[in-house]
Amino acid sequence: MKGPVKGIIFAVDETASHDGPGLRMNVYLKGCPLRCAWCHSPESISPEPEVVWYSAKCKKCNECSKACPDKIISFGRIDPELRNKCKKCRRMCLRACMNGALEVKGKETTALEIAEYAEKLAPFFRRSGGGITITGGEPAFQMDFTVEVLKLCRSKGMHTAVETSGYAQWKVFEKIAEVTDLFLFDIKHPDDKLHRAYTGVSNSLIFGNLARLIKKGANVVVRLPLIPGYNDSLQTVRETAGRIKETGVIKVSLLPFNPASAGKYSWLNLAYPLSCTKPQPVEYIKELETIAVNAGLEVVHYG
Ligand code: SF4
Ligand code: SF4
Repeated sequence: MKGPVKGIIFAVDETASHDGPGLRMNVYLKGCPLRCAWCHSPESISPEPEVVWYSAKCKKCNECSKACPDKIISFGRIDPELRNKCKKCRRMCLRACMNGALEVKGKETTALEIAEYAEKLAPFFRRSGGGITITGGEPAFQMDFTVEVLKLCRSKGMHTAVETSGYAQWKVFEKIAEVTDLFLFDIKHPDDKLHRAYTGVSNSLIFGNLARLIKKGANVVVRLPLIPGYNDSLQTVRETAGRIKETGVIKVSLLPFNPASAGKYSWLNLAYPLSCTKPQPVEYIKELETIAVNAGLEVVHYG
């Protein structure tokens, strides 16, 4: 007999409002095939649960290091080069830390557990026009879990959305499309060479999937995460708007740079790559939105 469909998640937010219409429950999945230079959720990249460190709580006692059989943790920090070795023990460092400075991000759950949890919020969803959004990480990376959660939620009348990088085989999106009311589809750069340099992968599969979703009649809002110095110039946004319009996309959301992820890099003992970067002024975002409108796109805002 087939067992429960399981997935690895690292967070649930029951009060989300920016990832689709109305009040939403966001479910954040572990695992992502991209390596964006500006990643907003570095704790989502690894598909496995992992130990993170909260510097503000750390008393620098180093009990964690004494407890670690492999000595890969020191004063709460795991050397990024050694992180993949952190699998062999039962979190001895967490047990040794008396200050709550260590935590595991990521836990296994079942699709049914998530759907039952979402169902408790269904009255709020109904009143606000909201629902459930699967995000990450990359939801397509855990296709079976994503599909099962959305299928169960939909069967209870909930609105379903998926936020995706678009980077997976078409057959994965074909399945997800059957149970999804809305795709929030990220486009990071129109130029393939620069896309590879900034994210580690080509954009051709991504644009191909976008065009196929549109052709299939899926409800898609393309999202442009605007990263200063990478993809937010007038010229780049003009090119991006032109390329997505060619695929048949109508709706687009422009996401101003959000510097809030800096602290998450310290959880993983990583340097934050955009430490001096500031969000774009509101007037500049409006100028970029005008470019999108002039390209024939409708600008959508959530939240
Ligand atoms: S989980 Fe185990 S192997 Fe990993 S750092 Fe903690 S004590 Fe060491
Ligand atoms: S993480 Fe915990 S055990 Fe390790 S040095 Fe900090 S306070 Fe001590």
